[in-house]
Amino acid sequence: MTDVPGGPAYVVVVQCHIVKERCSGYLCELAFHERSGGFEGYPAGGLRFLPLTCGGCCGRAVHRKLTNLLRQLRKREGVGKDRVVVHLSSCVANDNFHGPPCPHKEYLRTLIAGKLGLSLREGSRTSPAAAARRAGGVYRSGDG
Ligand code: SF4
Ligand code: SF4
Repeated sequence: MTDVPGGPAYVVVVQCHIVKERCSGYLCELAFHERSGGFEGYPAGGLRFLPLTCGGCCGRAVHRKLTNLLRQLRKREGVGKDRVVVHLSSCVANDNFHGPPCPHKEYLRTLIAGKLGLSLREGSRTSPAAAARRAGGVYRSGDG
């Protein structure tokens, strides 16, 4: 984890609003807790973790949600956006059990990295079953 000056303070995971109608997000949290999958390489301890959904297609609400977060972080804790890293959850970023990648993924990238200038990564939970399907060519990329 070297591309965030001073190291990240907040790791935010943007999850699919539709998928989260049925998913608690537990496996994303577990992956963060274990520093596995998309969170591999983060230092143990000291990091805050905030999952939120995109707000539903086309994902535009994520801009408002993250703007609110950045304002609160700056005002209450003096944390700047250079200390925040955003991940697109695996169910947003990759072909997986729940379906193909988000059809608005590039729009989400534009909002998060382009408009808000936040550090953006792809992936959260890495499912062994999905990884096996990817290796076997069943999934086009990634996993859930
Ligand atoms: S990546 Fe998995 S655990 Fe995380 S929100 Fe999507 S479906 Fe749920
Ligand atoms: S914009 Fe993408 S991530 Fe958000 S609800 Fe729609 S399909 Fe899911």
